[in-house]
Amino acid sequence: MADQLILSSPLLDYVRDFSLREDDVLRELREETAELPGGSALQIDPEEGQFLALLVRMTGAADVLELGTYTGYSALCMARALPADGHLVTCDITDRWPSIGVPYWKRAGVADRVEQRVEDAAAVLGELLAERGPASFDLVFIDADKVNYPRYYEQSLELVRPGGLIVVDNTLFFGQVADPAFTDANTEGVRALNALLRDDERVEVSMLTIADGVTLARRKGA
Ligand code: CA
Repeated sequence: MADQLILSSPLLDYVRDFSLREDDVLRELREETAELPGGSALQIDPEEGQFLALLVRMTGAADVLELGTYTGYSALCMARALPADGHLVTCDITDRWPSIGVPYWKRAGVADRVEQRVEDAAAVLGELLAERGPASFDLVFIDADKVNYPRYYEQSLELVRPGGLIVVDNTLFFGQVADPAFTDANTEGVRALNALLRDDERVEVSMLTIADGVTLARRKGA
C-alpha cells in the first residue's frame, strides 16, 4: 500500500487551481475573515466549503444543522446548496464572528434559509431535540469546541435521521491526534470522538484526510 500523498503547498495550489469554484461572495468573506485575529485558522478551507456544498446536494439535505458558525463561510456554502425551501440552523457561543457573515448571506440571497442561534452547542442540540424531535435533520456539521466533540456527536446522532450524515471537522487536529506528546483537552476531545466513531456500529464511517481531517458518519437504518 502506498503512503498517503503529502499535500505540499504547490500541490495544494494545483488542487485549488483545478477544482476550486469559489466566487466573489465567498472569496471576499474568506479574505475579511483572514484579517481577524486568529483569522483563517478557525475557518474551513475553501475546498472544504465546496465539498460541504457538494455533500448537501448529493444527500438532498433540506434540513442542516451546523455547530460552530464562526464567520459563516461554511454556513454560506451549505445554505446555497440547499433547495429553496431548505433550512440551515447554525449556532455559535458569540455573535461577534457570525455577524460578519450575515451581510454575505444576504448578498448571496440565502439569509432567509439560515437560522442563527447564539448559544452553547450542547444547549442548542437539546433545544432542537425538544422542539423538533429526534431524526429531524438530514445533515449535521460539527465544528464547535473540540473538548465536547463526543457529547456533540451523541446528541447529533439523535437529531440526524436514519440515512442522514454527520460531518465532523478537524478530526486529525493538525496531526496532533497521532502525536502522544499532545495531551491537551482539545486534542483528547478529538481523540475520544475518533475512538468512539471507530467502534460505533450505529454509523458507517469514512475519515478523510482533506483539510484538517473530515470524518463522515452516516447513520444506519435507511
Ligand atoms: Ca474547523
